[in-house]
Amino acid sequence: MEKLGKLIYSGKAKSVYEYKDEDKVVVSFRDDITAGDGEKKDSLSKKGYYNTLISTKLFEILEENGIATQLVKLIDSSSMVSKKLEMIPLEVIARNLATGSLIRRFPFEEKTPFNPPIIQFDFKNDEFHDPMLNDDIAIALKIATKEDLAEIREITLKINEVLSKFLDENGILLVDFKLEFGKDNNGNIILGDEISPDTCRFWDNKTHETLDKDLFRKGEGDVMSAYHEIFNRIISNEDIKRWSIDSN
Ligand code: 5GP
Repeated sequence: MEKLGKLIYSGKAKSVYEYKDEDKVVVSFRDDITAGDGEKKDSLSKKGYYNTLISTKLFEILEENGIATQLVKLIDSSSMVSKKLEMIPLEVIARNLATGSLIRRFPFEEKTPFNPPIIQFDFKNDEFHDPMLNDDIAIALKIATKEDLAEIREITLKINEVLSKFLDENGILLVDFKLEFGKDNNGNIILGDEISPDTCRFWDNKTHETLDKDLFRKGEGDVMSAYHEIFNRIISNEDIKRWSIDSN
């Protein structure tokens, strides 16, 4: 296991460390889980492991489909060497079915399908509780340019297409998800953060059983069994061998 460098930043579930190459960092996934602006907190054994490997697998699928992600390589089963990015403080949400905050705020029937999907931008800011914003507000806040927002929307639609197909082939319905983007040294927009059961609604595509963090948010069911189920459905023994990590 490589020794981690100096801690740069610690978020609610991940920590970011310096790496020997200046243009890279190590993103380390912890077992911490939070909900409701961090009001509900716990630590669930193996969560960091599942989210690291699920994110890695999904980032690899995206890279194979021409979408640039922060992923450089895994260094162990909870740490990913990643491109160093200047993060854009937006939560980019894509919705294929109506649920969650959308049906709390708007008169949609639960499970109304959206085709094309709804793309929503929220301002990533705990103090203001991540409010929804539109292009004009994002531009006025100098978070992103008009061109950045158009590009982010286009990449998000492509990500939705690629992941919906891959996950459906593995028995998982991609209901909605949240992405975060950043810019590299050359100003390219790159997918950062993670794609995991913490950041997506994953339902069994036949029974619509919840297999994601909603179980923790609502205090229902065995959260880690659901993460384990997603892990089993998309990660093979060959992946584990290829990554040269313990099967844990
Ligand atoms: P909603 O707005 O319905 O609560 O969430 C929509 C989707 O975005 C869900 O898949 C949810 O997991 C994700 N999402 C939205 N905001 C956040 C956030 O602050 N943190 C995390 N981890 N996921 C979020």
